[in-house]
Amino acid sequence: MIHQQAHIRDKAEAKVYGTATSPLELPKYRIPRGASDSRATLELLRDELFLDGNAKQNLATFCQTYEDAEIRELMDLCIDKNMIDKDEYPQTAEIEGRCIHMLANLWNGPEGANTLGTSTVGSSEACMLGGLAMYYRWKERRQRAGQDTSRPNLVTGPVQVCWEKFARYWDIELRQVPMEEGCYGLTPQAMEPYLDENTIGVVTTLGLTFTGQYEPVEDLCHALDRIQQEKGLDLELHVDGASGAFVAPFCAPDLKWDFRNPRVKSISTSGHKFGLAPLGCGFILWRDKKDLPERLVFRVNYLGGEMAVFQLNFSRPAGQVIAQYYQFLRLGFAGYQMIHMSCYETAQYLAREIEKMGVFQVIFGGDPQQGIPAITWRLKPEAAVSFNLYDFADRLRVRGWQVPAYSLPQNAQDIVVQRILVRQGFGRNLAQLLVGDFHRALTYFQTHRICDNLTQKEAGAFNHNGT
Ligand SMILES: *Cc1c(COP(=O)(O)O)cnc(C)c1O
Repeated sequence: MIHQQAHIRDKAEAKVYGTATSPLELPKYRIPRGASDSRATLELLRDELFLDGNAKQNLATFCQTYEDAEIRELMDLCIDKNMIDKDEYPQTAEIEGRCIHMLANLWNGPEGANTLGTSTVGSSEACMLGGLAMYYRWKERRQRAGQDTSRPNLVTGPVQVCWEKFARYWDIELRQVPMEEGCYGLTPQAMEPYLDENTIGVVTTLGLTFTGQYEPVEDLCHALDRIQQEKGLDLELHVDGASGAFVAPFCAPDLKWDFRNPRVKSISTSGHKFGLAPLGCGFILWRDKKDLPERLVFRVNYLGGEMAVFQLNFSRPAGQVIAQYYQFLRLGFAGYQMIHMSCYETAQYLAREIEKMGVFQVIFGGDPQQGIPAITWRLKPEAAVSFNLYDFADRLRVRGWQVPAYSLPQNAQDIVVQRILVRQGFGRNLAQLLVGDFHRALTYFQTHRICDNLTQKEAGAFNHNGT
């Protein structure tokens, strides 16, 4: 069999590299006039794609880079299914509904409430919908009371860039409560001064982009209860659970971050992060049907039947949602727990090893009660080294590892950190090889001094807000 495969490949390569097209550059600006051989085109494209980073070594991304063979098979099976055509593909629509019910249950949606939700392309679309619903709930409340609606604001901690987009696209003032050294998320005390009657709501993040830590959702809810009593402001919460909403239920079940808090009106997540679905999958759920304003829902009849549509996108691939359902069935609660816990163990192992190196200070080290399976560290301020973390990231890149270095947002922008997301497929063995490369890089910098004049602050001019 192997011989036969090798033979076929030889033939394909002879065809590709021996053809008239192979010595030429691929067209870049115009669609070529004629057609090309499909096999040769594939091989040439495959060659070009080798220049991309290797996804498994991309420790910057929160997204899945490993999928079972069965998922690939399902994706292939679904390649022609359009998620929006619920009348043509009723079983796909049914499966989407099952995913939403399972998530409502996982997130402790109140029994008897008409929990409502949809799948999306990812968290960005889900957050956009959550933000819009929040905005219109606020606006309709104010309009009913005859109050001004011209100056909406949104209060958040350090959010992912999708919330900056939301605020800018819909002309809402974003009040991002600044970070401080040692405290990298939203706290009740820091939040309070930013709230007023024009606040459409509060967004809290479960799994901060910058460090991986959870914000204290329950404490924030309690603070909002007290603020309502004292000031009469009744404020609602959206949880951006892009990563954490698929981790905390399995690994920190006592953490009350979800619909157990009545103030949490909507939760969004990325199926393609710790939901373990392939890229292109997100969800948003509202606590109750009434939390999604009617004006966001469109009824269309041209798909056959009358359908409620409230996503930003119309056509969208369905395979990711089917694959999400497959993962629910295949892994079950125990499977998710096992996979995520082993990621935490790898993260904790890395945190210990990185601490031991002496020059780094771990800011977050993969504690399941405190955040997602990630680790974030900085150079110790007193570390006597001739490199900064941008240099260190570059050096790791020599071995193919992508470990981003970036400065923290407002008020902490002098602090440069590096972060690793530990995902399914990055296990103890690879982690141990990575540790070896850390040591190799440190040795390299002992013998090659490179940045005597560049302070960390200057290097902090680049900001990387990766996903
Ligand atoms: C990744 C992420 C997003 C954006 O999600 P996509 O699925 O990439 O669109 C939003 N918020 C947080 C906290 C994230 O981690």
